[in-house]
Amino acid sequence: MALLPEKATHQQTRTFNQQLVLRAIYDRNETSRAELARLTGLTRTSVSALVGELLRDGLVEETGTGPSTGGKAPILVRVRPDARHLIGVDLTEPAFSGALVDLRGKIVRSIRLPLEGRDGPEAVQVVMALIDALANSNGTSPLLGIGIGAPGVIDSRSGTIRWAVNLDWADLPLGQQVEQRYGLPTVVVNDSQAAAVAEFTFGAPTRPRNLVVVRVGRGIGSGIILDGRLYQGDGAGAGEIGHGIYGDPDPDAPPERCRCGRVGCLETLASMYAMVVAAGRSDPAIVDAPSLVAAVRAGSPSARAVVVAAGRRLGQGIAALISVLNVNEVLLIGAATALGDVWLDAVREQAAACALPQLSRDTCIELGAARDEDDVLVGASALLMTRELGLSLAR
Ligand SMILES: [Zn+2]
Repeated sequence: MALLPEKATHQQTRTFNQQLVLRAIYDRNETSRAELARLTGLTRTSVSALVGELLRDGLVEETGTGPSTGGKAPILVRVRPDARHLIGVDLTEPAFSGALVDLRGKIVRSIRLPLEGRDGPEAVQVVMALIDALANSNGTSPLLGIGIGAPGVIDSRSGTIRWAVNLDWADLPLGQQVEQRYGLPTVVVNDSQAAAVAEFTFGAPTRPRNLVVVRVGRGIGSGIILDGRLYQGDGAGAGEIGHGIYGDPDPDAPPERCRCGRVGCLETLASMYAMVVAAGRSDPAIVDAPSLVAAVRAGSPSARAVVVAAGRRLGQGIAALISVLNVNEVLLIGAATALGDVWLDAVREQAAACALPQLSRDTCIELGAARDEDDVLVGASALLMTRELGLSLAR
C-alpha cells in the first residue's frame, strides 16, 4: 500500500487553491475575480467559489468597483487586515514583551512584563501571563495563533527550546505547552531568526531573495534567508555563529567562560556586552551600551580600540557565513549598530580579509533598517502566518 494517496484528496486541492487565491489577493492588495483567474490559472467558476468561501470566513471583503475594461465594472476584493489577529511574543531579556498583530504586521496592542531575575518554570509562568493578557485584550477578531521568538537553540518543528541558558531552559516543550493551554497553533523560533524575517519583510522595499541578518546585542546570532524563506538547517540552529570559535584565541583576553560553558566563543569577544566589559577595564565610566557608544563618538582611543578588535572578530565569523553561503547581502542589526562606522569598517575589513576575494568582493555588509524593538515578535508572527495561511507577511 502506498504511504500517500497518489492523487491529492479533494480537501487538499481545495485548501491549496484557497491559499493560492488568498495569497494572490494579499499580494495585490486589491484585485478582481477576473484578474485572480488570470493570476492563478484557475477557472472563473473556481475563483468565484473560492472567493465566496473567503468572504464567508471574513478573511476578505469587497471594497467597491475597479475601472471597467469594456463590460461591467469589476468588483474588487481585498484581505481584511484585522480579519485575524496573531499574538507575537519576544522572550529576549530583561523583559518579555508581546503584542497583538494584524495580518499586515501592524501592532494593535503591546505589553511588556519585566522578568526580574525569574528563570526556569517561573519564567514560563511569565510567558503564560503575557499571552493571557493579550488574549483577554483581543476584541472580536479571531486569533490565528501564537508566534514566539526566544533566545537559544530551538527546534521549531516540535516547538522545543533545546537550550536557553540565561532562562535556565533545557528541552522545554514550550510550543506544545502553549498550544495545549490556548488551543491555538504556535510557532517557536530563535530570536535572531525571527528578527531576520522582520528585517527581510519590513526593511528596504527591494530586498534580495538571499540575505543574512546578523544581530549583535547582548549576544550574537544570525538569521539566514534563502530564496525568500528562513533557512533553519537540520537542527533549526542555522546561523548560530555566536558560539562558534573563529581564529586563534587572543593571548591577552581573559579566559572568561561563555554562557555555553566553553571558552573563546565569538559572543564572548564581539557582543555588545563583551565590548562594554572590555572597554570598562580601562575606562570605569563605561558601564553599559549607551556609555560605550558615547565614548566611541567622543573619540576615546581605548574604547575605539576595543570596538575595532570586536568588529574584526565579528568579521571573521561573517566571513565563515560568506564562504559557506556566498550570499551577497549581509545586514547588521542590534544594539551594536549604534557604534557606527568605527565598528562597521572593522567588520567589513576583516570579513573581506578572511573570505575568498572572489566571494567577498561581491558581498555588501550594511546596517539593517532596524525597524524597531518589535522585530522579534513581528518576525515570529510572520512565520506563523506563513504556516497557517500560506501568506508571506507584506506591507
Ligand atoms: Zn558559547
